[in-house]
Amino acid sequence: MAKRIPEDLRKLLGKDKVIDDPEIVSLYAREPSGISSEALAVVFPENVKDVSKIASYAYKNGVLIYPQGSTTDLVGGAVPEPKGIVVSFERMNRIINVSILDSIVDVEVGVRLGDLNVELAKHGYMFPIDPGSVNITTVGGAVNSGAGGLRGAKYGTMRDWVLGLTIVLPDEAGTVMRVGCRTTKCRQGYDLVRLIVGSEGTLALVAEATLKITPLPETMATALAFFSTLENLFEAYREIKSSGVQPLVMEFMDYETAKLAGEASKSPINVEGHMLLVSVDCNFEAVERVESWLRRVMEKNGALKVYTSKTIEGAEPLFTIRRSLFPAQVAMASKLYPGRKKIVYMEDIAVPPSKLLEAVTAVRRISEEKGLKVSIGGHVGDGNLHPSVAFPVDDEIVKKKVLEWEFEVSKTAVELGGTVSAEHGIGLRKKEFLKMEMEKLGSLKALEIMKGVKKVFDPKGILNPGKVV
Ligand SMILES: Cc1cc2nc3c(=O)[nH]c(=O)nc-3n(C[C@H](O)[C@H](O)[C@H](O)COP(=O)(O)OP(=O)(O)OC[C@H]3O[C@@H](n4cnc5c(N)ncnc54)[C@H](O)[C@@H]3O)c2cc1C
Repeated sequence: MAKRIPEDLRKLLGKDKVIDDPEIVSLYAREPSGISSEALAVVFPENVKDVSKIASYAYKNGVLIYPQGSTTDLVGGAVPEPKGIVVSFERMNRIINVSILDSIVDVEVGVRLGDLNVELAKHGYMFPIDPGSVNITTVGGAVNSGAGGLRGAKYGTMRDWVLGLTIVLPDEAGTVMRVGCRTTKCRQGYDLVRLIVGSEGTLALVAEATLKITPLPETMATALAFFSTLENLFEAYREIKSSGVQPLVMEFMDYETAKLAGEASKSPINVEGHMLLVSVDCNFEAVERVESWLRRVMEKNGALKVYTSKTIEGAEPLFTIRRSLFPAQVAMASKLYPGRKKIVYMEDIAVPPSKLLEAVTAVRRISEEKGLKVSIGGHVGDGNLHPSVAFPVDDEIVKKKVLEWEFEVSKTAVELGGTVSAEHGIGLRKKEFLKMEMEKLGSLKALEIMKGVKKVFDPKGILNPGKVV
């Protein structure tokens, strides 16, 4: 049967839409954290009809299917485990329609967020969700992982920006369905759009999306500051957060991580301590006032050094270090385990902003107790932290410690009133943590409801099995 599948799919879709060369297929069966698996083949639908044919074929033949964008979600969400076929949306990359009057864009889901923003900038607009991986992340991946990003402090996550979706169900007919609207106000009974957003490819194949867009900011004031203590940094953070000003970006990195990111990005800025980066979007008339206010707050709270900018272009060099968070975490792993194959586990907890200092302190304590070197960065504007540790794949002792560390870190987030996953999703790695969170809330029944929902959408359990619930 397994051998027959690529041949069947070639007959169904055309031979250039299916690849089963094992070397190429293996490139679609792994992700940057190091998690990998194997697949039978990769199929490349070029339109909604192709997606429907694949879904129907998979249903009739009991074949497992794994929808995939750029495989960057870091939780193994798009990794084909157990073996099946990968459905890559990379060829469905058309921007179908931009409507400035309606403030929306219609796209196929293989469009990368970076490319979308290049197009929207021609109209003076942007799509505001900007994960650190914005230049490679696809719309389909961002929709399904419920992505957030650097501008989350102001713009939230994908849940706030998706209006409508064209989805394909894994059923006999490969049913194509439109859910949601092309208007910002929309009541269609239960909100199936928000159910699909963040569903990690477990409920439906998403083929097209209608997204809200927003005007580009006129300009922005930015301050990058280094602090010798976490207490000072979070005092400055609190003052800014409580001022009534709504920052666009609020990003944090601990000293060691910022140093590694500075080296990885070859930034000329001298990293002198824990790092806080804040941008406020505003108009030209206000920018000087906002810039000097940001500088004053940082200095008043003990910043060792503050760099500022009054323009969007001028802020770019101040963002370089932050944009290298993941390379810094990989660099830390390479320093610790040179020449060995390793997996980097990046956590994705969120806590109420008032609990951030407690959360960072607890993560550092847990890491020290386990004897693990931790790197911490995150989108602190919305309370989201990405602590990361690594282990060599052949070292069971360190791996066990890392798994215990992950659980402890996740538990701490929940105890502080937060959550185990803010924006990356549950994927292969965090099912146990999701269960712990729901148990602590006294809501285990919610998991049963989720399993029931999965069954309604995917009665045979062939779509991205083993993820989320
Ligand atoms: C360096 C780096 C920085 C990052 N920074 C951020 C950040 O700031 N914020 C953030 O939120 N994330 C971040 N991430 C994680 C990741 O980039 C996001 O989760 C992103 O949205 C995933 O997009 P993707 O195209 O790679 O999707 P994939 O990883 O391919 O897929 C993600 C999930 O969506 C499903 N899926 C994909 N396409 C479809 C489809 N068409 N239909 C149905 N299901 C589908 C997959 O099965 C999988 O479960 C970062 C990752 C890296 C490596």
